[in-house]
Amino acid sequence: MFADCVVPLPLEGVFTYKVPAHLDRLVQVGCRVNVPFGQKKQYAALVTRLHEEKPEYETKDILAVLDEERMLLPGQYRLWQWVAEYYMCTVGEVYKAAIPSGLKEKDGKVCYRPRTVDCVRLAEKYFDAAGLNSALASMRATPKQQLLLMRYIELAGVNAALTVNNPCVLKEITREELLKATGCSPSVLKAACERGLLEEYEKTVDRIPTSGIPAELVLQPLSDAQQTAMNSIRAAWEEKDVCLLHGVTSSGKTEIYIHLINEVLAQGRQVLYMLPEIVLTSQLTDRLRKVFGDRLGVYHSRYTDAERVEVYRKQVSGNPYDIIVGVRSSVLLPFHNLGMVIIDEEHETSFKQTEPAPRYHARNVALVMARMAGAKTLLGTATPSLESYGNAVTGKYGYVPLTTRYGNVCLPEVEVVDIAELKRKKLMNGPFSPLLLKEIRQALERREQVILFQNRRGFAPVVECHVCGWTPQCPHCDVSLTFHKRTNQLTCHYCGFSAPLPQRCPQCDADRLSGKGYGTERIEDVLENLFPEARMARMDLDTTRSRSAYESIIKGFQRGDTDILIGTQMVTKGLDFRKVSVVGILNASTMLNQPDFRSYERAYQMMTQVAGRAGRSAGPAGQGVRPGRVILQVHDAKQPTVMQVVRGDYEAMFRTQMEERRLFSYPPVCRLIYVYMKHRDETVLEHLAEEMAALLRQVFGHRVLGPDMPPIARVQAMYIRKVCLKLELAANMAEARRRLQEIQKYMTAKTEYKSAVMYYDVD
Ligand code: ADP
Ligand code: ZN
Ligand code: ZN
Repeated sequence: MFADCVVPLPLEGVFTYKVPAHLDRLVQVGCRVNVPFGQKKQYAALVTRLHEEKPEYETKDILAVLDEERMLLPGQYRLWQWVAEYYMCTVGEVYKAAIPSGLKEKDGKVCYRPRTVDCVRLAEKYFDAAGLNSALASMRATPKQQLLLMRYIELAGVNAALTVNNPCVLKEITREELLKATGCSPSVLKAACERGLLEEYEKTVDRIPTSGIPAELVLQPLSDAQQTAMNSIRAAWEEKDVCLLHGVTSSGKTEIYIHLINEVLAQGRQVLYMLPEIVLTSQLTDRLRKVFGDRLGVYHSRYTDAERVEVYRKQVSGNPYDIIVGVRSSVLLPFHNLGMVIIDEEHETSFKQTEPAPRYHARNVALVMARMAGAKTLLGTATPSLESYGNAVTGKYGYVPLTTRYGNVCLPEVEVVDIAELKRKKLMNGPFSPLLLKEIRQALERREQVILFQNRRGFAPVVECHVCGWTPQCPHCDVSLTFHKRTNQLTCHYCGFSAPLPQRCPQCDADRLSGKGYGTERIEDVLENLFPEARMARMDLDTTRSRSAYESIIKGFQRGDTDILIGTQMVTKGLDFRKVSVVGILNASTMLNQPDFRSYERAYQMMTQVAGRAGRSAGPAGQGVRPGRVILQVHDAKQPTVMQVVRGDYEAMFRTQMEERRLFSYPPVCRLIYVYMKHRDETVLEHLAEEMAALLRQVFGHRVLGPDMPPIARVQAMYIRKVCLKLELAANMAEARRRLQEIQKYMTAKTEYKSAVMYYDVD
C-alpha cells in the first residue's frame, strides 16, 4: 500500500511513501506519519490518500504513525486545496498555517506533551472499611503518616465512596494539595506510599481552563428592531447562503449573533464566530460564556502553541467545542458539523494575511468553507467592504439593514475642522484645534470620557536637522525612522531596526535635531501639559506588546480609571464603552493620502468606526440629551470622503468608490494579482522584473501593468518590485494561475535569478 502525504514545506504537490507491512493497519487517511525527507530530515506529514498505484520513482517507507485518530477531517483537505489554488501557494504552506506547530514538529520530535499534575490516591486493596481502619490503627508509631492518610480520607471523601462501594466517586487529590493541608514534607508521603497505603499517579489536565461559569442560557430579549433584523436574516437564508447585516455602530449586532447561535446549536450543529484579533476581548468572551458556558472554545493568536494544539485536538475529537470564537486563523480549524459562520467586522483588513503564505483572506475562505459544509454565513458590520456590499446590491447575498442604535440612542454628530486654515492663522495648539480642546475640557468637567485617534505611533514620525535638513533613514528599508521618546530610540516600523537618537547631526554636526509631526506618544505628552489633572492611557503597538497590557488598558477605561484614551487604529475597533462623549480624529488626511486603491474606503471605515465609539449611552434621541460629539480634523474639509463620513452616507461612498474602481480597474470589478519579486541586488532585480513583465505581456497583453516600485521599495535589505495583473471577473482563473506559475518556474530556473524571491498576492 502507498500513502500520499502533505509535508509542511513550501513544495508543490503531495509525496508518495510506501506503507510498511507492520504499519498497514495503523495508517489511515487524515492521520500524521513520520516520514524521511531529503538526506536526513524527517517531518510529520499528513496522509491524504491511500492507494496501490506504485509510483515510477523509488519510494521510501513511512517510519512511524503518530496518531491513533485522524487529525484531518473529511472535507478539510478539499478546503486546503482550494486555498492553495486561489491564493497561489502550496498545500504544504496551508498545512503549516492550519496546524499548530506542536503537531507538525520535524525530525520526528513531537514537542507537544499533555500537561499533567501529580495526584495521590488510596491503594486499591485498602478500599475496604475494615482494612482501612486496621491500617490507621497500625500507624500510631508514625503519627505524621497517619495524619496524612486521615486527611486524605477526608479530602477525597473515602467514607462516602465506601458507603456506595464505588471508588469512581473518589475526588482526585493533588499531591500539592495534600501536603499543604497536612503540613507534611514529601518524605512522609513517600514513606506512606512505600508502605503501600497511598500511591502517586499523573493526571492529564487541560491547559485551557474551563470557565467554571455554568451556562444559564441567559438570552437578553431582543428589541423590536433587532427581532425584525433577525427574522429578515432567517428569511434571507431561505434563499441564499450568505447574508450581510449592515447595522450602525451600537445597534446591538452581538445580541443578534447570540440568538442565532442558540438556534444553530439547538439543531445540533456547530458555529464559527470570527472577529479581528483586537475585538476578541474578555469583554466579549465573558458575555458568550455566560450564555454558552464550556461549549465555547476560544482560538486566539496570542495563545501558546500548546493551547492551540489542545483546541485543535478537541475539534477533531468526538467531543468538540460547539462554538469557536476566534481570529483569522480559526477559519482553518476542523469542524464536524458546521451550521453557521459569523464574520463580525467583516470589513476589517486584519482578516487578510499578508505574510507568510498562504496570503489568504479569512472572509473568503470562510465563505468557501461554509459552502462546502452546507452552512450559512452572516457578515456583520457598520461599514461593509465594497466587495460584500456589492454582492448585496446584486442580490448574490441577502441584505439586512439595522439603522437605529440599541435603546434608541442617537448617533454621534460629526463636526469637521479645517486644520490647514487654522495652521495658517496660527490658531492650532500643537495637534489640537481650539474646538477639540474646548470639547475635551467640557467632557472632563462633565466627568465623561474622551477618545483621541491618531494613526501613527511613536513620538515623531520624522526627525530633521534644522540646519542642513538631514533626516535619519532605516539602513535596510526605504523609510524614515520614527522617534520614540520613552526609549530615546529611532525605530523602523517595517523591520524593527533601532538606534539611539544622535546628539548632533551626523551630516553637519549641528545640535538642532528635532521631531516633525505627531505620533501617539507625543500627543500624550502635549495633553499632559494641557490637562495635568486628567488621567490618560495610550493604546498602540508599543503599549500593548503583551496580551494582559491590552486587556488592562481596556478594562481601566471601562471602569472609568482613565479619562482620555489616546490610540492608533486599535481604538477604532468594535469596543463598547459607555461613557465616551467626545471622539477626536486628529488628522484624517494621513489616512486619505495612502498610496493604495482601497485608501478612501479604509479611511471611511476607520473614521466611521472610531466615531461610533462616541455617545453609546447618550440616551434616546429627541429628549434633550446631548448626542456624542466627533471632531474630525482634516487638511481639506471639502474632501468627498470626509463629507460622506459627516453625513453617514455609506451609499455615496460606495457609489463614488465603485466608479473609481471601474474607471481604473480594481477589485471588486476585476481580479487583481500582484506578482512580487525581491532580491538583494537592485540591478539583477530590475532585469528580472522587466523580463517577467515582458513574458507576462505575451500571455496576458494589456492586463499586465508594471513593473513598478511599491511605495516602500526596500524592506530588510531586499529590494522589491511588483508586476500587477488585472483579470476580468469572468476570466478562467485556474488557467491564468497555471500560465503564471509556468512563467515563474521558467524564470526562477535561470541561474542569474536563482536567489530571487517571488510570490503572489491575490486581490
Ligand atoms: P454593535 O456590535 O452593533 O456595535 P453591541 O452589540 O456592542 O453593538 O451593542 C451595543 C450595546 O447595547 C451593548 O452595550 C449591548 O450590551 C447593548 N445591547 C444590545 N442589544 C441588547 C439587548 N437586546 N438587551 C440588552 N442590551 C443590549
Ligand atoms: Zn545637519
Ligand atoms: Zn527598516
